[in-house]
Amino acid sequence: MQLKNIIIILILFSLADTALGVSEVTLNNAQRPNGAILFIVDGLGSSYYYPEFTPYALDGSVLSKAATSNLTSGARVADIETPYPVTGIAHSVIVTGYSQANEEIVGYPDATIYDITRDHGFINLAVMEKGDFRNMREEQDIILFAENNSIDEPLMSIQAKKAPTGIYEVMYDWKTRLPLYLDNKSGREKYSAYNKWGIDTARAVAEAMVKNHPSQRFLLTVNVGAIDSGGHNLGEDDYYKLIEDLDSDFYPIYEIASEKNIALFFTADHGMSFAVKNARRGGHSSEKYASAHESLRIPLVVLSRNTNQGVIKGEYGQEDIAPTLLSVLDLPNSLQYADGKTINLKNYASIFIKADTKYSVSLWSDNRKVSEGTDSELIFSGLPLNASFTLKAASEDRTFEERISLDSDRQFILSPNKRTNYREILAIFLILVVIAAGLMIIKRIKD
Ligand SMILES: [Zn+2]
Repeated sequence: MQLKNIIIILILFSLADTALGVSEVTLNNAQRPNGAILFIVDGLGSSYYYPEFTPYALDGSVLSKAATSNLTSGARVADIETPYPVTGIAHSVIVTGYSQANEEIVGYPDATIYDITRDHGFINLAVMEKGDFRNMREEQDIILFAENNSIDEPLMSIQAKKAPTGIYEVMYDWKTRLPLYLDNKSGREKYSAYNKWGIDTARAVAEAMVKNHPSQRFLLTVNVGAIDSGGHNLGEDDYYKLIEDLDSDFYPIYEIASEKNIALFFTADHGMSFAVKNARRGGHSSEKYASAHESLRIPLVVLSRNTNQGVIKGEYGQEDIAPTLLSVLDLPNSLQYADGKTINLKNYASIFIKADTKYSVSLWSDNRKVSEGTDSELIFSGLPLNASFTLKAASEDRTFEERISLDSDRQFILSPNKRTNYREILAIFLILVVIAAGLMIIKRIKD
């Protein structure tokens, strides 16, 4: 081993903290979900099926609207748009909570929802027909994805890091079933079959997780691609019918999510626009289409036992999805780049406490201790909304006390106080000595 490497390792050792843990406390029998399905429908504009909207062509003519009954149940955010209606970028916004995200940022440390789920013991799984790219695939423990965008000659691959037992086999089995869905079909029927395969595959993966790994929490990301492809290639009259097909094929996902207490996030990367009524081709990302509401508006419908139902009013952005997903999963929003805000859907509040050392934390209401825990990261979930608490925290040499009123989740980072810590100064001094000595040795070797 080179001397330089030894020095780097020495420095890392002296900086390393003692192992820090996470403690989670659930109060009042809160129905925390066992995981989540993030279901992204590529190119599904909410203009084409939300009751609030009428879709228009670029020339101002009114377009056809899909009749749906399954794609709106849950907490439905009425007004939410992508900042940038391009597949790769919009997927990056969804998973980072950052309105200026791109595919590169997805690969940065602690940039995505997957980094946070992984840190809290979740498995990340994905079934993606579109919207995956190298950094997105790298975030997954296992992903089944389409290597091309072709519905006529699809090419599916599996990439696995540390897949839970049996999941590779389920994905492989479903990969081989795709031709059975597509054979002897053409046009819109074939496009919908491609989506149905994605839905059924995702359902099978979720089912295998629930059955074979019942205590393992997971985040399953799904992208179905044929509504986008249909908008581009088949035209306006098939586009809205593809949405109706999705509505009738979607039930297996809805069913497993509601029966097995899995939070379901139904959304899209971007919408779709058409120049005229009956246009044979649509688009969303080119200059002609990119600023149209039909390209920008996306659906967001959340179904989870710990959220309220109904229509959520107000203006939101795609970057709000990631913080909202973390909140519903009772995970802290420590996304490094996020500028999105949590949409308050949860029917209780959670308190997240993070510190650089172990703390004894207690929650008090009217001089009565409600709960307590000890760790460097603590999550208290199931706290009643609009109630007041006193949060007390104590470590070896520090104390903290704050009165809080909870109208939504709260996050606390307990940082060291300003008192001089001679042990830290000594540690830094020793590191500098090691670096200086190392540099001198390297110089001598070179000379
Ligand atoms: Zn797309």
